[in-house]
Amino acid sequence: MGCEACSACLRQGEPAALLKDMLRFGNGEPVDARTETADRGRAESDLPVRPFPEPTSDPAWLFICEGFDALREREVETWLTVANGRVGTRGALEEGSPHSAPLTLVAGVYGDGTGDPIVREPLPAPDWYSLALRVDDSRLDIESGHIVVHRRILDMSQGIVFREWLHRDRWGRLVRLRTARFVSLDDRAILALRAEARMAEPGPALLQWEILPKAVMPEGAALEIDVLRMQDAAMLIRTWGRNGGSHALALATYPTPGTPFEQSAQRLPGGIGAHLAAGEPASVDRLAAVAAAASHDSCSTAAKTALARARSRGFDELLHRHRAAWSDCWRQCDLRIDGDPEAQRAARFSVYHMVGSADPENGSVSVGARGLSGMSYLMHVFWDTEIFVVPFFIYSLPDTARTLLMYRYANLNGARAKARHLGYRGALFPWESADRGTETTPEHAIGPHGESIPILSGLMEHHISADIAWATIEYWRATGDDVFMADMGVEIMLETARFWASRTELGDDGRRHIRGVVGPDEYHENVSDNAFTNRMARWNIDHAQEALAWLRQTQPGRADALLTRMGVDDDELAEWTSVAAGLVDGFDPQTRLYEQFAGFFEMDDVDLSVLRPRPMPADLVLGREVTLRSKVVKQADVVMLCHLLADEIEPATARANYDYYEPITVHGSSLSPGISAAVAARQGRLDDALECFRMACDVDLSDNMGNASSGLHMATMGGIWQAVVMGFAGIWRHHEMLILDPHLPADWTRVAFPLRFRGAVLQFEIGHDRATIDVRQGALTLELGPGDEGATLALGPGRHTFTRGGDGAWKKGTS
Ligand code: BGC
Ligand code: BGC
Repeated sequence: MGCEACSACLRQGEPAALLKDMLRFGNGEPVDARTETADRGRAESDLPVRPFPEPTSDPAWLFICEGFDALREREVETWLTVANGRVGTRGALEEGSPHSAPLTLVAGVYGDGTGDPIVREPLPAPDWYSLALRVDDSRLDIESGHIVVHRRILDMSQGIVFREWLHRDRWGRLVRLRTARFVSLDDRAILALRAEARMAEPGPALLQWEILPKAVMPEGAALEIDVLRMQDAAMLIRTWGRNGGSHALALATYPTPGTPFEQSAQRLPGGIGAHLAAGEPASVDRLAAVAAAASHDSCSTAAKTALARARSRGFDELLHRHRAAWSDCWRQCDLRIDGDPEAQRAARFSVYHMVGSADPENGSVSVGARGLSGMSYLMHVFWDTEIFVVPFFIYSLPDTARTLLMYRYANLNGARAKARHLGYRGALFPWESADRGTETTPEHAIGPHGESIPILSGLMEHHISADIAWATIEYWRATGDDVFMADMGVEIMLETARFWASRTELGDDGRRHIRGVVGPDEYHENVSDNAFTNRMARWNIDHAQEALAWLRQTQPGRADALLTRMGVDDDELAEWTSVAAGLVDGFDPQTRLYEQFAGFFEMDDVDLSVLRPRPMPADLVLGREVTLRSKVVKQADVVMLCHLLADEIEPATARANYDYYEPITVHGSSLSPGISAAVAARQGRLDDALECFRMACDVDLSDNMGNASSGLHMATMGGIWQAVVMGFAGIWRHHEMLILDPHLPADWTRVAFPLRFRGAVLQFEIGHDRATIDVRQGALTLELGPGDEGATLALGPGRHTFTRGGDGAWKKGTS
């Protein structure tokens, strides 16, 4: 067992099976070597007096973790995160263990705990769910005694994590414990836990809940605790970071109303308890409320008010509202894959966690690379958000996409300052962004031998500005939200275009160049004319001009005011046009290949067999120096470009570049395989597409990169969604239309999902030879592929059926 978690084994592809022993998706029999049937039987016959929240009976929504494995515990905690975009909590044990890494993150709350003025670090909240059971005078502890049953279930349909634990303690007593916890999707300030414990045998015993939440404070942070009320052990914990934000957590703990325990419970030092006979439940409710402030302002009143609201509703009412919010949400974004249960669960798992990572109500925060589920990447916002995650929101929950773009708009000043600081104009967004819109990428990392490695992304990874521009246009085209565009979008476009115009240099060849960048493939630093960057820069300038032309035409007064405020005149606009036209992009029309950057084709070949199986961290295997001068690619770069600009780049070009780059791409970044899957699926290369798709699914679920313990990979999840919808199901945007061109893997009998597009509410059901589109609201212009190139159909309300003919082309109707 000892080597299960070591990254050497993880790289051999073995751990997937090992992990799947622990992890179950509802189907099949539970595996728990430590189960004692007799003990279990005793506990099952001993049902609770009051109904306890239950997981759904449909196994396709359940994510089940059996047993307790100290080596795996941190991954389990990551998977079992409950979050609502405002606050997120890892699935750590309520009573804690030496193997736990409990964490509650509050979106947007950072400080500079490291003492480094550049790097902003999250300021975690206290462990609001922390609760331990004492039986007589000893604390129930998962590591002492004997686990009979230990099962944690994430019910994605309800957004609840359930725990069932039957334990024989080291004195031989059999205790049963259950908990259910959620972070409300209905009222985002509120978090709730119900816990119930009973002696299975013998009895009676003093069962006592310890209620004090623990707080692990980063260095330099401060904390203050006030007792609010004695009768429900209510308290307020206010935390503030050095040079940063603050939050207040108000919480109350009390016997579950309507249970016999409510009558018998007594306040004891540090807890609530009672002497109970075998089978009598001790049930408590813990409600908590969080409020955040971007500075040291007190947010105590907001937290107390939210707690009062929660208290007046009570756990059951809060639960009811939370479930209703999730079921409403799933109606808008469930992704069904029939015929491949593993793919189904990975898809739902991704949607569940993407929803939990974004707050539609707060435009001053955005989605961190690891969501609200772990400390890796310090809750910083990367291109991961706009390129990977935002598309899911654009087409499922467009209001959330808008809020995420507002975060970038709100931080334009920081981006202008960064551009100025480096000697450019316009807006250069930070590679890693936090609460102030300033660059917060660390300048160094510690290498495998303890050496300091410079990180150049903060200085050179400039494609982020074009990525944000891309998401702005994608949102506008897919939603038709002209108000957003006029209020914010056009300004984002103009400021980023202005940056690119100032970023290029005129070369001796009379062409424009962009020198000294890092492209998506971070294995090669300080390169020139990265095709992705240059092509996206040109796209950015062209689309800024288009957006401006639209504003000038529809709201000339606003266009003039904006240009005047920005100081953009016609000469400058003409200059941008000539920059865009003169910018090289490394494209060879003969071979149709983009050279990833100037000189890439002349670099050293590597023996690819050393870099299998993928994913493979080539920089660690080959060493940094060799990697820097070799034709080995960390993550989709030119292939990423073909994905983003699928609307403009010809299929034959995408195919040629995929052929060239995919074999030398090691997927050393979790962002990569989902995109390769989408591109391969669109090209109908289903074996390749499925291989990459499964690699993407395994990033979190089988820990194939060895870092799932430190948080979920939000970009991977967005990539999984894009691979299913835009790749296999073949639904993607072309101008103001959607294209239908599916390529389903043989085992997938049907893919079904709702989408929102330009005000229309749509439901897709896609099979191999038959598809239906239900236009539930509004209307849709659809283009059928392949074959009927250019044939477009106007679909009004109602259900429309399409069939694939013998020639592979799709036709409307059933004949
Ligand atoms: C990533 C960069 C990031 C840096 C510091 C590296 O592992 O590849 O994108 O900026 O870490 O967080
Ligand atoms: C990737 C970047 C990514 C970052 C955060 C890095 O390893 O190379 O593209 O933005 O991780 O997820």
